[in-house]
Amino acid sequence: MTNKIQYGFYFDATRCTGCKTCQVSCKDRKDLPVGINWRRVYEYAGGQWNQNGDGTVSQDVFAYYTSIGCNHCSEPACTKACPTGAMHKRREDGLVLIDAEICIGCGSCARACPYDAPQIDNDKGIMTKCDGCYERLAEGLLPTCVESCPQRALDFGVIDELRAKYPDAIEPNIAPLPSTEITHPNLIIKPNRNAKPTGDKSGQILNWAEV
Ligand code: SF4
Ligand code: SF4
Repeated sequence: MTNKIQYGFYFDATRCTGCKTCQVSCKDRKDLPVGINWRRVYEYAGGQWNQNGDGTVSQDVFAYYTSIGCNHCSEPACTKACPTGAMHKRREDGLVLIDAEICIGCGSCARACPYDAPQIDNDKGIMTKCDGCYERLAEGLLPTCVESCPQRALDFGVIDELRAKYPDAIEPNIAPLPSTEITHPNLIIKPNRNAKPTGDKSGQILNWAEV
């Protein structure tokens, strides 16, 4: 199945300050309960200080932020794993959505997604996930996370148009994100100057309690 168009996100890691306004504005608009964050801002950091033995020190410490929701992937692992068809890719714009009427809350999509995008609502027994703010798109508006970012680090639109608009952006094979080979995400990133490649072991996510 091919989509008529394919929506996606742009993220500028040189602008993001890790303020999490995108994460909070999404949570507020979608009225998400404690423990569910459709957009998450990861702080990835590493390096160390070294005594040089001559009274001086040197360092290679680094830190940068990655704001991530659902990438409405071209080869979504979530839809392939869903046994009921509740998780589906919309033909008209490539958004990956959940039909709550037929979701049985089995969690297969969440286990399959390498971006941790689907998150279960245990009270309702159904999976939840970034829906690209499709109801805002229908009104000609951008997703809430994009419009709320005070740094203008996020953008959303037809992914081919985003690629033309942001020629410095690259495919997101950047730690702590997984290889793009798995799901072909519709996300492009302008990397932070400290960006490490996918699979990097020199850093770690520091803010698990916040995501
Ligand atoms: S696009 Fe909408 S649903 Fe997705 S993270 Fe942004 S605000 Fe949340
Ligand atoms: S990011 Fe995860 S949930 Fe979203 S479309 Fe890709 S595989 Fe599915």
